Amino acid sequence: ANVELEVEVEAALAEHAEGIGLYRTEFLYLDGAPPDEDRLVEVFSRVARAIAPRVTTLRTFDLGADKLPLAHGPRIAGGALGLRGLRLALARPELFEAALRAMLRAAADAPIRVMFPMVTTLGELKLATQALESARRSLRRRRVPHGKVEVGAMIEVPSLLFELDSFIPRLDFLSVGSNDLLQYLYAADRNNTRVASRYDPLAVAPLRALLAIVEAARRHGKPLSLCGEMAGRPLEALALLGLGFRTISMAPASIGPVKAMILSLDVAALETWLAEKVRAGEGNLRAELKRWAESNDVDI
Ligand code: PEP
Ligand code: MG
Repeated sequence: ANVELEVEVEAALAEHAEGIGLYRTEFLYLDGAPPDEDRLVEVFSRVARAIAPRVTTLRTFDLGADKLPLAHGPRIAGGALGLRGLRLALARPELFEAALRAMLRAAADAPIRVMFPMVTTLGELKLATQALESARRSLRRRRVPHGKVEVGAMIEVPSLLFELDSFIPRLDFLSVGSNDLLQYLYAADRNNTRVASRYDPLAVAPLRALLAIVEAARRHGKPLSLCGEMAGRPLEALALLGLGFRTISMAPASIGPVKAMILSLDVAALETWLAEKVRAGEGNLRAELKRWAESNDVDI
C-alpha cells in the first residue's frame, strides 16, 4: 500500500496489503516547522511495528514542487523542475540527516527500507548514501539503538533510464514513480488540468521506458516495484504485470479492485501478447489492452 498519513495504515492492513511500498513522509513536514527527530522516530516506529513482519518503505521527504510546508514555502519553492525531493534534502543536510537517523532508529524493532525520491544523477545517489552513512555513524558514536535498512531509489527522472546499469548495482531495491516519470517524459505538468491527462501512460513511449526498467532490474537481480497512481487502476496494473512487474503499491482503496483483476488473469498469455505489441509499437494500446482483457475474461 501507499500511505500518506499514519491513519491510512489501518486501511492498508484491512485490505491485506503485503507491506508499505511507499510512505510519503513529507506529509509530516507540511503543517509548520519540520518535525524533530524524536517525533519522526515515534511515527515511523508505530507505522513499521503495525506493518511488521511485513516491510515498511519510508521515502525521505519529497518536499518542493506541489508539496510545500506552510512555514517554509517561499524559501524552498521551485516547481516540479526545481529544488524538490532529494535535491532539496541535499541542500538541507540537517533536516535530511535527522530524517535518516529517525529511520535507522525506527529500524531497531521493525523491518524498514529507506527510499530516496527524485534521484537524477549517480553523484546525487552517492551523496544520499553518504548522508545515510553519516547518520549511522552518529548513532553508533552515541550508542543510540538502531537497525539495518535496505536502501532504494525511486526511478522517476528520465535521466536514470540511460544509466540504469550503473545505478542498480548500488541499490538494494528500486521503485518506479510513474507519476513523475510520466510528467517528465511527456513534459506535461501533473498538476495542470489542461495537460495532465492529455498523454496516455499506456502509449508506446512510457511502456517501452517501463520495460527497459524491468529488464535492467532483472539483469541485476534486484527487487523492483512501481508505486505511481497507474498501479491502482486495474487496466494499467494489467499492463504493468504484462511488462513483468510483480510488486506494485497503491492507495489502500485500490487494492481490492486490482487484486480482483490479478486473480482473473493468465499472466503468461498476457506477457507474450504484450511484448509483441510493445515491440511493434503501433496502434492504440489502451484500446487493445481493454479488448484483450475483455476477450480473456479479466475483471477490469
Ligand atoms: C510518483 O511520482 O509516481 C510517486 C509515487 O511519488 P509522488 O506521487 O509522491 O511524487
Ligand atoms: Mg514522485
